Amino acid sequence: MSGNLLPIVQSVLRLRAQLTAWRERGASIALVPTMGALHDGHISLIRLAKIQADRVVASVFVNPRQFGVGEDFESYPRTEMADAQRLTEAGCDLMYAPTAAAMYPDGFSTTVSVRGVSEGLCGAERPGHFDGVATVVSKLLIQAAPDVAIFGEKDYQQLAVIRRMTRDLDLGAKIIGAPIARAPDGLALSSRNAYLDAAQRARAPRMHQVLAETALALTAGGSVRPVEQAGRAALEASGFDKVDYLEVRNADTLQPPPDGPITRTVRVLAAVRLGRTRLIDNVAAEPPRG
Ligand code: AMP
Repeated sequence: MSGNLLPIVQSVLRLRAQLTAWRERGASIALVPTMGALHDGHISLIRLAKIQADRVVASVFVNPRQFGVGEDFESYPRTEMADAQRLTEAGCDLMYAPTAAAMYPDGFSTTVSVRGVSEGLCGAERPGHFDGVATVVSKLLIQAAPDVAIFGEKDYQQLAVIRRMTRDLDLGAKIIGAPIARAPDGLALSSRNAYLDAAQRARAPRMHQVLAETALALTAGGSVRPVEQAGRAALEASGFDKVDYLEVRNADTLQPPPDGPITRTVRVLAAVRLGRTRLIDNVAAEPPRG
């Protein structure tokens, strides 16, 4: 579709002016935070947001504070006009694309840090990452004060951090997790998939296969620790350049469950590296029936 694009605002002032006007007409508001380079996974969040609220705002902001030293902040794909086009086609009502200078004015000194759920998993591999996420998402939730905010289960630990933070800081929005959108071969859609060359792209879906097999083994009654070890070994044997982790965690608390067969829903989470690209994914596993 070409033609009219959705309105794009860059300042908090303009964002709030638009949202206030909608609210005065009785509309509820959903916020979908993104870093742009939008793909069908992001669009599935917009669709869910449209079911949850009358008006949908997508933020597009590549947040420097959630990238570590030597990570891909500079090379992260930036496709603002294509993003605006995709948001328009999906029926999003407003794109909020703040500048880094506006989000982090000179002298910015505040960090939101969530203990517990942010530790381990990606938190162990990417020091400071979840502080950056929590700081920017708390700002976005304060700026837009949405009724609901949608986040993908693709970033499962991030979703847990945001739920905890929203409760702890009374940020008010209802946090909704959206299922993972996948390519037909199982690979979770990600803006970073664009970094993969053909050989890496062909190998990448193996991570989801191993996660799915691991979840099946748990649902079949396998014990947590040996199943976890077998999953990790399977990933190690799958030609990834590095396996950062494969772990079974309680789906709500992200704590490791006790060894033995699982008795409640868990999540199997993994992160691997293919060349310079870091891929993450996770699947749910239900306890055996009966
Ligand atoms: P990002 O632009 O990568 O920061 O992602 C923005 C939002 O989209 C986050 O809430 C992600 O969890 C979510 N997201 C990214 N990829 C997917 C996917 N494949 N399926 C569902 N949600 C996703």
